[in-house]
Amino acid sequence: MSVDFDVIVIGAGPAGYVAAIRCAQLGLKTACVDHWVDSKGKSSLGGTCLNVGCIPSKALLQSSEMFDQARHQFKDHGVEVGDVKLNLHAMMKRKDKVVSELTQGIASLLKSNKVEFIFGTAKLLEENKVEVTQEDSEKKYYSATSIIIASGSSSIELASAPLTDELIVDSTGALSFNAVPEKIGVIGAGVIGLELGSVWRRLGSEVVVLEAQDTFLPLTDQQIARDALRQFKKQGLDICLNARLLSTRIIGATGNQQVEVSYQDEKGDHKAIFDKLIVAVGRKPNTDHISDEASGLLLDERSFIHVNEKCETSQPGVYAIGDVVRGPMLAHKGSEEGMMVAELIAGKYAEINYELIPSVIYTHPELAWAGKTEQQLKASGENYKVGTFPFLANGRAKAQGDTSGMVKVLSNASTDRVLGVHICGSNASELIAEAVIAMELGASTEDLALTVFAHPSLSEALHEAALAVDDRAIHVVKKRR
Ligand code: FAD
Ligand code: NAD
Repeated sequence: MSVDFDVIVIGAGPAGYVAAIRCAQLGLKTACVDHWVDSKGKSSLGGTCLNVGCIPSKALLQSSEMFDQARHQFKDHGVEVGDVKLNLHAMMKRKDKVVSELTQGIASLLKSNKVEFIFGTAKLLEENKVEVTQEDSEKKYYSATSIIIASGSSSIELASAPLTDELIVDSTGALSFNAVPEKIGVIGAGVIGLELGSVWRRLGSEVVVLEAQDTFLPLTDQQIARDALRQFKKQGLDICLNARLLSTRIIGATGNQQVEVSYQDEKGDHKAIFDKLIVAVGRKPNTDHISDEASGLLLDERSFIHVNEKCETSQPGVYAIGDVVRGPMLAHKGSEEGMMVAELIAGKYAEINYELIPSVIYTHPELAWAGKTEQQLKASGENYKVGTFPFLANGRAKAQGDTSGMVKVLSNASTDRVLGVHICGSNASELIAEAVIAMELGASTEDLALTVFAHPSLSEALHEAALAVDDRAIHVVKKRR
């Protein structure tokens, strides 16, 4: 039976477009279907990550950090700039430009790799056929030997805080406020709550974050999480743990409306009034209409597409990758799965080390980690050693005037193999790559200790933390016995 394509990829986010490009590089006739449209109604590639996720949030984090530094830190460096003013319109315009340059870049990449882009909403049918509903509702049908579903995820909504056009918004709305709200409430002290809460706090909003759990960032190494929480609170982010949202109510006259939030914590019931409420309580896979029942595609109990470690679904020839399957909802995890699946389809060997996917929270200080946390090692009963080193004792951090945070290295007590690295500090997102490479290559803390790091650099803190595992860090003032 002849097929239209070797591979059809559903979704052009960081999982799907990477899979499509790699398939094409491997000589497979590839199509990629996506239905994303931007605010002007134009098709825009790159999925959540480029359009309303990683990229616009990082653009605003960068701009707002520069504004904050200009207001509060330039003086310490002897740089006097007078009255620093915010031009929010220009900041948003820059963010939009960054997004549109990158999304157009993806279109060029698909084209230059000869991936056929099909605009429309795709649905998996039986026998590896795909139905694509076009803008004019007309349906077209395509077949392929292999199909890769990379339909991504969307924000979870709360019945107690239904989204509105302006007042109660998800992360997408929070990337585009046209004025700095005086008081913002954030539901959820997860990655989005902390990143976008930080953006608006730096731009001048009073930000209150209501988190249901009693532990701050429970999946992060708790020593690092405690250090970060202390610093976020010092910056003015009001993070309330154990705060259970009860209800929300829009109050005030049209044009001057606010959100009244009722919540409960261990001290009792509370009400708070906000100019904007950001709901950031996690994301759910986009699987509602992704397949026809006859396709036999199996979902798990949380509606993710069920896959094995090779991202094979219950249907032969159908793969699923990225946010729509188990594992962390991270762009780089989806992209790696995209590359792995392309290689497998082309008959090559490929695998992913899911144990070493780095996580980053792009606040200031940044949090970044890979491998096991101390609480995981305790729970598993593995014998481990710990080394920590504060940026306060790092020459480069001191020169930069940014000494908050630390590096923490965990290693196996008998083999010395590095099991986890956790960083809270400036440029942690870049530093963690060194740790991931070390762990991927099975390094011991002795290997890190024997490695030469440039001076003065933030990386020296990783070196010193590795030395500290055996109590031989150099730049540490020992307590007198
Ligand atoms: P998506 O990026 O969601 O792409 C899915 C694509 O599929 C979309 O383009 C969609 O239009 C298309 N699609 C869906 N259904 C269909 C259909 N039926 N037919 C046709 N097309 C369809 N991750 C990080 O690693 N680092 C970060 O800094 C980071 N920051 C983030 C900030 C925010 C505010 C948010 C919301 C997310 C952030 N993430 C970050 C998460 C990251 O965006 C996702 O993990 C990543 O986008 C997932 O990639 P994906 O390709 O699986 O899905
Ligand atoms: P998250 O899972 O990181 O955090 C959600 C938080 O909301 C949790 O702490 C949870 O306990 C809390 N919560 C849930 N229901 C609540 C309720 N009713 N009241 C109060 N708190 C409640 O999810 P997110 O921040 O929405 O981010 C979604 C996904 O996007 C994440 O999986 C993340 O991996 C990805 N993301 C990654 C980055 C990054 O890599 N830097 C940035 C943004 C988003």
